Amino acid sequence: MSNCLQTPGVVKPVIDRDRCDGKADCVDVCPYNVFELGIMPPEQRTGLGFMTHVRGALNGWKQSFAVRAEACRACGLCVSACPEKAIRLQRD
Ligand code: SF4
Repeated sequence: MSNCLQTPGVVKPVIDRDRCDGKADCVDVCPYNVFELGIMPPEQRTGLGFMTHVRGALNGWKQSFAVRAEACRACGLCVSACPEKAIRLQRD
């Protein structure tokens, strides 16, 4: 796609765990299948904010995970699509 400027792996998406609500817009929009929806493991839940624990209890700890982050081409579609503004792109 024409607006993907980077070669794969130069930039990777970083998901803010205190913002992600597992709505999966990033899963739907990423042309390179970087994201998958999953359940956050209990050992990764420590240190998160109180409201994150409340949301986790309500939605079963569904969150998005960048399971193929190395395929990211930095098009920015996931950043725009996320309703919780939970994704930023970071140079690897
Ligand atoms: S920036 Fe583009 S290629 Fe990278 S994870 Fe987001 S949607 Fe996928």
